[in-house]
Amino acid sequence: MLGLIKKVIGDANERELKRIMKTVTKINEMEPQFEALSDEELKAKTPQFKERVQNGETLDDILPEAFATVREASKRTLGMRHFDVQLIGGMVLHEGQIAEMRTGEGKTLVGTLPAYLNALSGKGVHVITVNDYLSSTQSEQMANIYNFLGLTVGLNLNSLSHEQKQEAYAADITYGTNNEFGFDYLRDNMVLYKEKMVQRPLNFAIIDEVDSILIDEARTPLIISGQAEKSTQLYIAADRFVKGLQADEHYTTDEKMKNVNLTEDGVEKAESAFGIDNLFDHQHVALNHHISQALKAHVIMQHDVDYVVQDGQVVIVDEFTGRMMTGRRYSDGLHQAIEAKEQIQIQNESMTLATITFQNYFRMYQKLSGMTGTAKTEEEEFSKIYGLHVIVIPTNRPMVRKDMPDLIYKNEMSKYRLAVEEIANRHQTKQPVLIGTTSIERSELISSMLTKKGVRHSVLNAKKHAEEAEIVAKAGQAGAVTIATNMAGRGTDIVLGEGVAELGGLHIIGTERHESRRIDNQLRGRAGRQGDPGSTQFYLSLEDDVMRRFGSDNMRGMFDKLGFQEDEPIQSKLVTKAIESAQKRVEGSNFDVRKVVLQYDDVMNQQRKIIYKQRSEVIESDNVKEIVWTMVTAVVEQVVNAHCSNDVIPEEWDLGAVVEYANATLLNEEYAITEKDLKGKEIQEMIEMLTERTEELYAKREQEIGEQVMREFEKVITLRAVDSKWMDHIDAMDQLRQGIHLRAYGGTDPLREYQFEGFQMFEDMIASIQEEVTKYAMKAHVERNVERKEVAKGQAVDPKQDSKKAKKPMRREQKVGRNEPCPCGSGKKYKQCHGK
Ligand code: ADP
Repeated sequence: MLGLIKKVIGDANERELKRIMKTVTKINEMEPQFEALSDEELKAKTPQFKERVQNGETLDDILPEAFATVREASKRTLGMRHFDVQLIGGMVLHEGQIAEMRTGEGKTLVGTLPAYLNALSGKGVHVITVNDYLSSTQSEQMANIYNFLGLTVGLNLNSLSHEQKQEAYAADITYGTNNEFGFDYLRDNMVLYKEKMVQRPLNFAIIDEVDSILIDEARTPLIISGQAEKSTQLYIAADRFVKGLQADEHYTTDEKMKNVNLTEDGVEKAESAFGIDNLFDHQHVALNHHISQALKAHVIMQHDVDYVVQDGQVVIVDEFTGRMMTGRRYSDGLHQAIEAKEQIQIQNESMTLATITFQNYFRMYQKLSGMTGTAKTEEEEFSKIYGLHVIVIPTNRPMVRKDMPDLIYKNEMSKYRLAVEEIANRHQTKQPVLIGTTSIERSELISSMLTKKGVRHSVLNAKKHAEEAEIVAKAGQAGAVTIATNMAGRGTDIVLGEGVAELGGLHIIGTERHESRRIDNQLRGRAGRQGDPGSTQFYLSLEDDVMRRFGSDNMRGMFDKLGFQEDEPIQSKLVTKAIESAQKRVEGSNFDVRKVVLQYDDVMNQQRKIIYKQRSEVIESDNVKEIVWTMVTAVVEQVVNAHCSNDVIPEEWDLGAVVEYANATLLNEEYAITEKDLKGKEIQEMIEMLTERTEELYAKREQEIGEQVMREFEKVITLRAVDSKWMDHIDAMDQLRQGIHLRAYGGTDPLREYQFEGFQMFEDMIASIQEEVTKYAMKAHVERNVERKEVAKGQAVDPKQDSKKAKKPMRREQKVGRNEPCPCGSGKKYKQCHGK
C-alpha cells in the first residue's frame, strides 16, 4: 500500500519535471543564438522584455528568453552557466512553488532566474535569506548579473536609515533577512507620514532555506514593543481627582452606554485641579482619557459585580454567566484605572505596539516561493498552510554519498566516547570530519573530549555568521575537524580540499537525532555536494532525549536480552526504521500544534489587516474628512439607538440620555439641544436632526480654524485614535489568549471562545475609535500648528532573543558605539555582538 502511494507521489513529481523539461529544451535550443549576441545586444533584452510585459505579454510568455538571457549574462559575468536542473529550479520558483534542491546544487544562482524574470514587471522581488551575512554576499555576487542586465539590486540591512531603506526597496530586486522585511512591514504601519514608509506592496518573495523560515520559525512573532505614553502616576492622579467629584454636579452617567461624562463644572474642576486651560486641548489627550477611565472605574464598574480582586489582581466577571474571566484585561486603560481605584499594583505598562508572525507576514505576498535542501518531509504543511507545492529537483550529478546505518549505544557517555574515537581515527588519515550537535553545550562537551585526545578542531554555534561561514567553508580541507550546531554556517558551500576525494570526501557524524527528520537531513546534506564523495553516520544512545521520547524501553529490553555491552552498538536497519517512524509521528503532532496556533493567529491577522488597511487609507489620502465624518455619524446613530428602539413605545425612550450625551460629546453650548427638540420625532428623524446640527457646528469650526488646519487635525486625531486603541487591543488580545486556557469550564472550546470574545473586543475597539475621533473632531481646541505625534515609541524585539527567555527588547533605531555594551543585553561589546 505504502509503496503504491509513494509511487503515485513520485509520478506526480516526475510529471511536473517532464512538463518543465520541455521548456528547458527550448532554452537550450536558444543558447547559440544568445551566445552570438554582443554584450550590448544582450543588455538591450531587458528594456525589450519590459516593454513586452507592458504591452500585455505574460511573464510566462517571456520566460524561456528571459532565462536564456540570465544564463548568458551569468556566463559572461560570473563564468557560471546555469545547469539544466537549475533552470528547472528557477521555473519551479517562478511558478510559486518550492524547489527542493540538495546542498551545493547552487540555489543562489537558481534564484537569479525567477528574480530577473519577475523584476521585469517593475513591482519588486524580495530574496529572503536567514542572516545578513548571506544577504550581503549573495546580493553582491549576483548583482554582477543583474547590473549587467540593467537591473538594480538593493540590500536591506537593519542598520539603514529610512531613506536608504526606501532606496533598497525601490530597487528591482531586494535582498535581506526575514526579520528585517517583517519589521519594516510593522514599522510602515506605524508611520505618521506616508513619506516615511519604506516598502512597496508585497509582490514576489523567493525564500532561501524556506523550511527554516516558514516551518521552524513560523510561529516566531516579530514584536515591536515600547513604552506607551501612559504612566502609572497619571492613573493614580486621575483616580484621586475623581474621588472628589459629586454625581450630577460634576459628572453624569449613562448606564446603557456605560459612559460617564464630565459636566461643564466637572471640566472646570479638572482644569483647575491639574492647572491647565482647556481639558479638551489636544495636548491633554492623555489626561482627559485617564480621567474618563477613572470615572468609569469608579462610577460604572462595581467591585464584586463586574470584577473581583483576587491575589492582588483585578479579575473580570462575565456579566451574563458570572464566570471569572481569568487572564482577560479591560482594554484602553480601564483595567489600570480599576487597579488604581483598588490601590493594587498597576500592571502592564510596557506593551506590544505591533506584532506579526512570519507565517502571516509571508502569506501576504502576491506570490511566494522557496528553496531548500529539505522540504519533502514537510510537504503537507507547505501545501495546506501556504499553498506551496514541493517539487524535488534531481541533482546535477549523481549522488554518491554513503549514509551508513545508525549506531545505537546503551548510554550517552559511551556514545560520545566512541564517536570521538571514530573522529580521531578518521583524523589520522586526514579525512575531514564535520560533527553535528543539537546544542551549544553538547558542542562544548565534544570539543573538550577532542582536546583531551589532542585533535585540533573548530566549534561553531551560529553566533558569528561571517566568521563561521569562513570556517565552515574550510570544513572540507584535509585534516579539518569542525563541530557545528544545526544553524551554524548554514548556506555555506563546503568545497573539498585537494586529495580529499581520495580519502572518501567529507565525513559527517551526527550525535543526536532531531525530532524532525528534516533537520537530520540538513546535516547529512553538508556532505556529498555536486557528486562529491562523502559519508554520514549518526551515533545515538538510549539516553538521548529524543530516543527516550521514542520509547526506548523496548529497545533497552532488546539490548539486555541480546546481552549487549556498554561499548557495543546495535546497528540495524530495523531500529533506524523504528526511529524514523517515531519521528514521523512527532512531526505530525508538531504540525498539529502549529495548525492550532495558526487558527489563533488568524483571528488577530484578520483584525490587523482591517486596521492596517484603514490606517493606510488615512495615511495615503490628503483629505480624511469623509472618514471622520463616517465615524461621527456612526456615533450619532449609536447613541440614538442605544436609548430609543422601535421595540418599545416612544414614551419609554430615554431622550434625556440622548440629549446629555449629544451635548457632552457632539455639540457645544451654542448648538446644544434639549429634550423638546427630540420629542415626537421618529428614530430616523432624530438621527437626521442630530447629524445636521453636528454638521453645522463642524462647518462652523472649520471656518474658524481654517480648512487646511482642519484637514491636518482630522488626520492627527484619526491616526492617534487608531494607533492607541489598536495597541491596547493587541495587548488585551494577548492577555485573552494567554488566559483562555485557564478557564476550565464545562467543555467549551477555547479556540471558539477566543474567536468569539476577540471579535467582540474588536467591535468594541472600533466603537471606541469612532467615539474618540468624534469627541476630538467636535470638541477639541485646535491649534494652528497641529503636529502628528507617535502614540508610543517602538523598538524592534529580536525574535531569537525573545523566544524563551524574558523579553529583552533590542533597540534598533538607536545608534550604538562600537565599543559600548551591546543593547541586546549579552554583556559583550556591541562590535563583538550585534554590531558585527
Ligand atoms: P546551495 O545554496 O544550493 O547549497 P550555493 O548557491 O552555495 O549552493 O552554490 C554552491 C557552489 O556551487 C558555489 O560555489 C557556486 O558558485 C557553485 N555553482 C553554482 N552553480 C554553478 C554553476 N552553474 N556552475 C558552476 N558553479 C556553480
